[in-house]
Amino acid sequence: MCVACRQLKTRDQMFRFVKSKDQKQIIENPDGKSSGKGLYICRDKKCWDRLWSRRNLKRTIATRISPEGVEWVEQSLGGKG
Ligand SMILES: [Zn+2]
Repeated sequence: MCVACRQLKTRDQMFRFVKSKDQKQIIENPDGKSSGKGLYICRDKKCWDRLWSRRNLKRTIATRISPEGVEWVEQSLGGKG
């Protein structure tokens, strides 16, 4: 389920992330191989933007995504803005 819009989509329609062991960081998990609590975001710029524009989502998720994870999504979506 997408953390931004809470819709259920197939795995290939979503970006996969996983929480680090200390729960402090959210790391990209494109191949689904990392263990840990999974986290999904639609491959949709609207959902990505929503993650950064909603205060609670930004605090709990967006700012904790690793820089590599942010880059991964933004490159996949074709850049920010
Ligand atoms: Zn979504």
